[in-house]
Amino acid sequence: MLTRFAPSPTGELHLGHAYSAVLAHTAARAADGRFRIRIDDIDGSRSREEYVAAALADLDWLGLALDGPPVRQSAHLGEYAAALADLRARGLVYPCFCTRADIAQSLAAPHGPSGAVYPGTCRSLPAAERERRLVDAAHCWRLDMERATALAGGLYWDEQGRGERLADPQAHGDVVLARKDAPASYHLASTLDDAAMGVTHVIRGADLIASTDVHRLLQALLGLPTPIYLHHALVCGPDGKRLAKRDAAASLAALRAEGADGHALAADLAAGRLPTGYSLQMP
Ligand code: GLU
Repeated sequence: MLTRFAPSPTGELHLGHAYSAVLAHTAARAADGRFRIRIDDIDGSRSREEYVAAALADLDWLGLALDGPPVRQSAHLGEYAAALADLRARGLVYPCFCTRADIAQSLAAPHGPSGAVYPGTCRSLPAAERERRLVDAAHCWRLDMERATALAGGLYWDEQGRGERLADPQAHGDVVLARKDAPASYHLASTLDDAAMGVTHVIRGADLIASTDVHRLLQALLGLPTPIYLHHALVCGPDGKRLAKRDAAASLAALRAEGADGHALAADLAAGRLPTGYSLQMP
């Protein structure tokens, strides 16, 4: 078994991250497996080295030993580009030149599990126009969802302890696989990395369960293995809302600085016990 904790270094980690990391670490230890950290830093404009260092210090404070050095997404941009080129050669992605405003203005854009569903404007651009605009116009790359799902057929994943789940990638529409400002989207990078790292069990918050629809499809298209998934309940604060990186009170760096006992916190979280005022809730 190999589990991973995959924070984005865009802010301080909080109790919700600690819960996720503890679950992944505990599962690996119980099975005599391995636990690793991946730094999801493809978003170069928002990622900060200080948050990478803080995340590593947090895990150390919690007593969660790592079986291997941190994996950094920013070191794997070539793999993401190669996968995108493969999908492009197979006619499964297309460049999209629309701005956020273009998409927001489109009356045809309904909402899906991961935001507005792209109305497909650039899917049917004439080939000559597409080639001309590719030369110098900012663009992202989108998955042609209809083609992709026709190719992949019905897809399921194993949600640990809860049986098989039917993936519904179509609800997301033509998702972005490479961004204008980053060579891969979260969906593409995360799916490729989980496979490359040999992750057997993806343990992450239930807020990401809809993403698994898309990840399962990408696994099928790219010939990657499908891990077992566990989407766990989210830690909510005294106000009943799920924690966000801006909730300074629940920041692990702050708890560390106050001299709180990280090992004791990890043991409590592993047993499902949260500090007073905090609770676990399924979204
Ligand atoms: N980096 C993502 C986040 O911090 C998590 C990715 C994942 O677990 O798949 O929300």
